[in-house]
Amino acid sequence: MEKYKKCSFCGRSSTEVGMMLTGLNACICDDCVRNANQVILENTKSQDKFAMTDLPKPKEIKAYLDQYVIGQDAAKMAMAVAVYNHYKRLQHESETREGSDVEIEKSNIIMVGSTGTGKTLLARTIAKMLVVPFTIVDATVLTEAGYVGEDVESILSRLLQVADYDVKKAERGIVFIDEIDKIARKSDNPSITRDVSGEGVQQGLLKLLEGSKVNVPPQGGRKHPEQAFIEVDTRNILFICGGAFDGIEKRIAHRLNTHVVGYGAVENTAKIDKNNLMQYIAPMDLKSFGLIPEIIGRLPVLTHLEPLDRTALRNILTEPKNSIIKQYVRLFELDGIQLEFAPEVLDYIVDKSIEYRLGARGLRSIVETIMMEKMYESPSVPVDHLTIELDYAKQQIEKAGGKIMNSGA
Ligand code: ADP
Repeated sequence: MEKYKKCSFCGRSSTEVGMMLTGLNACICDDCVRNANQVILENTKSQDKFAMTDLPKPKEIKAYLDQYVIGQDAAKMAMAVAVYNHYKRLQHESETREGSDVEIEKSNIIMVGSTGTGKTLLARTIAKMLVVPFTIVDATVLTEAGYVGEDVESILSRLLQVADYDVKKAERGIVFIDEIDKIARKSDNPSITRDVSGEGVQQGLLKLLEGSKVNVPPQGGRKHPEQAFIEVDTRNILFICGGAFDGIEKRIAHRLNTHVVGYGAVENTAKIDKNNLMQYIAPMDLKSFGLIPEIIGRLPVLTHLEPLDRTALRNILTEPKNSIIKQYVRLFELDGIQLEFAPEVLDYIVDKSIEYRLGARGLRSIVETIMMEKMYESPSVPVDHLTIELDYAKQQIEKAGGKIMNSGA
């Protein structure tokens, strides 16, 4: 055994090193382990994390989304197809085969749905499985160039950051623009007063969506202090926009009413599901909401998210892979406590969330309120088992009074 007491990598003996690990036919010292680890880290880093191999098919993308997002099939399908086509287009671009002269144009998406129905969740979830750079930006911070706020180009700075300033990679990325409705024109009458966060921003955004070369300030990019701008071509960047478009249902209803007058009116009106008008959304509704037609034209895939009903909210509590209830169970499990919720408690949580008009966003704050005292006490009073009963849940919510309404919303 004596001969193995030398590091098989650097040859030093166990007296010269901090620690020696012994294997079957070899030894390795702590220094060599550290060096080897460094080499592995560097090698994995340099591997292309955005490699275009083994691309998931639309059904696989949707199945993945299903694990985390309840319902919203229309939006999931639109997203899965858009992402898949995006990959295909990128591959097509890089092919120089003869005869492949059909240029596939991208199909940017716009998702419309009330707040808290899962738009951002969809975007975040899909980001986890993407093989291209991806970023989420908030349209509310954007203003026309020269005004307080961020220029539209800052959207691409974020994408560049995610792509480690590899411009070629960023140019194949996907950007999710949240709250796109907040840059809608405030009135139908264009520009009597300046509308710095409305139409001006839309014009700026249009440049990105159309596909052009844009000069991007490398914000926070310490790698390029000498460089004022980086040129990014947006032709192949896929844009997914999301917005709540509060009040758009009224416009949809108005349009449907005016359209169904006349031939076949009775039949058509009967078919309209008044509780979910969002499903009838059409590009003209976005226009009447205040998006300029050019922007709408550049977002050819229009999809909607369903309002979350009682069943959906109940499922959101328990079904997703990292559902709120699963998270609390895990939290207690870490203290060795098996946590359970009586089924009536789950229904009660849903009722409260509906009562407070908080939708899915309220679920977490309600569960948090119910669990606060138990989370405080339980670690000091070890029990094996804890079941939250309806009376206890009610009592905790009543104690908290109106506080829940201010959180979560
Ligand atoms: P939006 O972007 O549409 O305003 P979010 O995606 O931010 O809404 O949703 C807020 C929270 O509500 C999410 O973090 C998630 O916990 C929950 N949620 C909303 N919709 C769903 C859904 N369809 N499936 C699962 N959880 C959801």
